[in-house]
Formats: sequence, C-alpha cells, structure tokens
Amino acid sequence: MPELPEVESLTAFLGERAVGRTIAGVDVVAFQALKTFDPPVTALGGLTVTGVSRHGKFLDLDCDGLHLVIHLARAGWLRWRDDLSGARPVRPGKGPLAVRVRLAPDADGLAPGFELTEAGTQKRLAVYVVKNPDEVPGVAALGPDPLDESFDVAALKRIVGGNRTQIKGLLRDQKVVAGIGNAYSDEVLHAAKMSPFKVAATLTDAQIADLHDAIVTTLREAVERARGLAAKDLKAEKKSGLRVHNRAGQPCDVCGDTIREVSFADSSLQYCPTCQTGGKPLADRRMSKLLK
Ligand SMILES: [Zn+2]
Repeated sequence: MPELPEVESLTAFLGERAVGRTIAGVDVVAFQALKTFDPPVTALGGLTVTGVSRHGKFLDLDCDGLHLVIHLARAGWLRWRDDLSGARPVRPGKGPLAVRVRLAPDADGLAPGFELTEAGTQKRLAVYVVKNPDEVPGVAALGPDPLDESFDVAALKRIVGGNRTQIKGLLRDQKVVAGIGNAYSDEVLHAAKMSPFKVAATLTDAQIADLHDAIVTTLREAVERARGLAAKDLKAEKKSGLRVHNRAGQPCDVCGDTIREVSFADSSLQYCPTCQTGGKPLADRRMSKLLK
C-alpha cells in the first residue's frame, strides 16, 4: 500500500509530467471507484492540470480549480503511460484497471496519461471530483502531516497525552497523524525501539521525543529514497528500504535477533523482540489458537 513517502514521490512524478497539460478525458472503468457525481467526471475534460499536491495518502490534481482527488487504498497503484493514443477502450469488470486519465496530445503527437489500477478482489481505490479537496471526508478528517514544520514534539505530546490506544493503532489512524500506514508504523516503532502494543498515554516525555524523531527521520529517509523514482519503481524501493515490515523470520539488521510477527484478521505487524519488547515475543492470537 502506498503511504506518505510513495504518495509524496507520485505527487512529484505527476507534477513534472502532467502540470500544464490539458485533460482530454477521464475514463472510469471501475464504477465503484468514483465516489462523487456532481460535478461529473466529464467536467474535467478540457481543463488544464495546474498543480499536484498530497494530503496524507491522498493525491490531489488541481485542474483549473476543479480537483481530482485519488486514494490508492491498499492494493491500488498508478502507472504512467507515455502514449495512450493507441489504447483500446476498456470494458468494466475485467482486469485491474480502475480509472484512466488521458492527456491531450503534445507536439510530437504523443498522448500521455496515467492509469489507476487495483489488484485483488477488495475494491477500495477511490476517486473524487470536487471543487475543494476538503469535500472529501477522508481529507477533511486528516490529522497533522508529519512532514509539516508544525508537527513538533509538542504536537505529538498533545496527540498521545491521555490517549489509551496502543501506539501502533494510533500511528495508523489518519485522523491522528496523516500518511502513516501499516508498513511505516512498523518501521517507526522499530526505529523508536518501542513495542507496538504500548499504550500511548504511558509514554514518558523522553519516549515522546524519541518517537517524534523516529517518525520524522523514518519518513524523511523514505521520501529521500523514493525521490525522483518513476512510479513503476516505487514499490520495489519501498520493499527494499523496510527494516522490519514484512520481514518476519529474517534477522534484524540492528541486533541480529529474528524479526517476529503478530497476525490479525486482515493484517499483520512485524517487530524485533530484542529492539522493541525487551526480548519477549508478543502474543500472537492466531498462533495460540492454532496451538490449542
Ligand atoms: Zn533488533
């Protein structure tokens, strides 16, 4: 799933290629992906892309004041196409293609564009056509952006103070902090040497400062690694840059201990016992159930 660093990179990638270009048309292939109906998606035709920005994990294309807001969700991705002039119309219900944005041909006669795809059966990719990005409920509800200057230690202290949630869940909550998902919350907690199950309100001031540093450093480093990469190369970069997430069974590159996993109904988390939980493995309900 693309999180803040990947969406930040996609924002720059699209900004370089799409800004200044006219939209020829937007084809919605997966109808359930389009979450708004007024203004209609056809209203984007003929408008110029004037800017691309990011809100949490949302991509926002400003098209002469009308916004195409995109949430790639868990299995969504964006692929750039240098020339869509020969692309065939796509019938709904087949393959991963959800939305195709066609740009007007350039002087060379090439008509570039991009496609939003979604793998798997759970269709959560979402696009919105709105006059103001805040009309998208998920955007309006976003907490502070961790790369924003205003996100300092005091801001994080206000967030965790009195909060009885486990820190892993808190970091993933977009209403609390924008842009961090399952992968980077694992990475942040490993960098902060903190148990994912630690209750937020129990953090000391020193731990809050460590956590803040881990959030900002982890995300900035990931943004730096993803900078300038083409959309198609981002997934591999994300995977290779992760130190604990999805690496259960492999050695921790800080201490050498074996990275472990806790499984939930539809997700899992990974952590290093030596670095994060005083050497003690966390209870894995699925494993205990299997052993009974
Ligand atoms: Zn370790």
